[in-house]
Amino acid sequence: MCSLVQKYNIPGPRYTSYPTVPYWDMNSFSGKKWEETLQKSFSASNATEGISLYIHLPFCESMCTFCGCHKRITKRNDVQIPYIQTVLKEWELYCKLFDEKPVVKELHLGGGTPTFFSPENLKYLINGILKTAVKANNHEFSFEGHPNNTTKEHLQALYDVGFRRVSYGVQDYNEKVQKAIHRIQPFENVKNVTDIAREIGYTSIGHDIIFGLPHQTLEDVEATILKTKSLKPDRLAFYSYAHVPWIKGNGQRGYNEADLPSADEKREQYENGKKLLAEVGYKEIGMDHFASKTDSLYKALDNKKLHRNFMGYTASKTQLMIGLGASSISDSWYSFAQNVKSIEEYQHLVENNIIPIYRGHILSDEDKIIRQHILDLMCHFKTEIKVNEASFFNANLVLKKLKEMEADQLIEINNNIIQVTKKGMPFIRNICMAFDMHLHRKAPETRLFSMTI
Ligand code: SF4
Repeated sequence: MCSLVQKYNIPGPRYTSYPTVPYWDMNSFSGKKWEETLQKSFSASNATEGISLYIHLPFCESMCTFCGCHKRITKRNDVQIPYIQTVLKEWELYCKLFDEKPVVKELHLGGGTPTFFSPENLKYLINGILKTAVKANNHEFSFEGHPNNTTKEHLQALYDVGFRRVSYGVQDYNEKVQKAIHRIQPFENVKNVTDIAREIGYTSIGHDIIFGLPHQTLEDVEATILKTKSLKPDRLAFYSYAHVPWIKGNGQRGYNEADLPSADEKREQYENGKKLLAEVGYKEIGMDHFASKTDSLYKALDNKKLHRNFMGYTASKTQLMIGLGASSISDSWYSFAQNVKSIEEYQHLVENNIIPIYRGHILSDEDKIIRQHILDLMCHFKTEIKVNEASFFNANLVLKKLKEMEADQLIEINNNIIQVTKKGMPFIRNICMAFDMHLHRKAPETRLFSMTI
């Protein structure tokens, strides 16, 4: 395994979209085309499957040094209402493009720290969104809660407007690691917010654990998983710390590269962590995600309904996902669009009745086929190259790349069906990269992506 890690540990995308953001083609994109594909997608899918909303709430009280999110560090509460009003206005701009009320199937609050906002303001935001929309019967509303500032009132307020899922960032319970990542978060805090969520009636509680953090050892990862087990979250994200300070700026400069575990140590943390998670009853769901048997992700995997979008893995696919808030990304299935990242610019554009996107991509026929392969691999560890696809992309080139991985026993290929082996699962990003025609045409600048392992 060690030599495979050396061979395959290269910079590579995490494939929350295909094409990945650095390969979006701005020449074929325009705001007008975005609106056209959006309307096409809405008409085709709103009545049958509904739409998804992602709302980015970018404020945090303090900076965690491992963080790769778009956020603004502040302690000022007076930023809350103007920001929410801008999000509601942006939503109003979208609703004007639709000829019927949007049916909201999924809604996710991410950040930043959604619980930076007061319970009353979060309720005001959600009620404002739902004023011009219909809540789907089987809707799934979720939010990211910070264990240090999520209160009973937050959980109750969001429960009252339809939220049943919450995920908490845990990372690691070791104090030395917590100090290095500037996120001191005792186990009692996580236990407290997990217990309260359960008491109120949340049906899916998730914890995020990260490996590969500064000063983190294999023992720390194992101890964190065992503590996590005692709280019985329904879902777990267990993923590798992405060290990209050249992209994320000073936030990730609070420690040295020498403080990070080596690639082999990280792999050991991952392998042993995964084994431990299986032993304590979690099933691996796609890349980096685990769920208990009662969770909807587990059932979706069983029913072959698992899907992945910018929000991560989801049990219910909607073809249209609208991202509201600064830096949010939207996906109309035919195109992607991203909002401006600066909060001031975001507010300025929306106040002037402009949907605040600044870049995007219209998917070509080739993109759509490759995206499906990558989705199938990421969700089901299996895909099939069909004969008629040869005219859309260079399948021979892809198969040539895959042959080497077959020789390394990462995949098995039978009649153009590619099945990822158990040994190959940690290398799923590399396997997807074999399909990535944009990468084949233009190699990435070395420091564009985090390492795949
Ligand atoms: S990890 Fe979360 S709370 Fe910490 S800075 Fe990033 S977005 Fe904010």
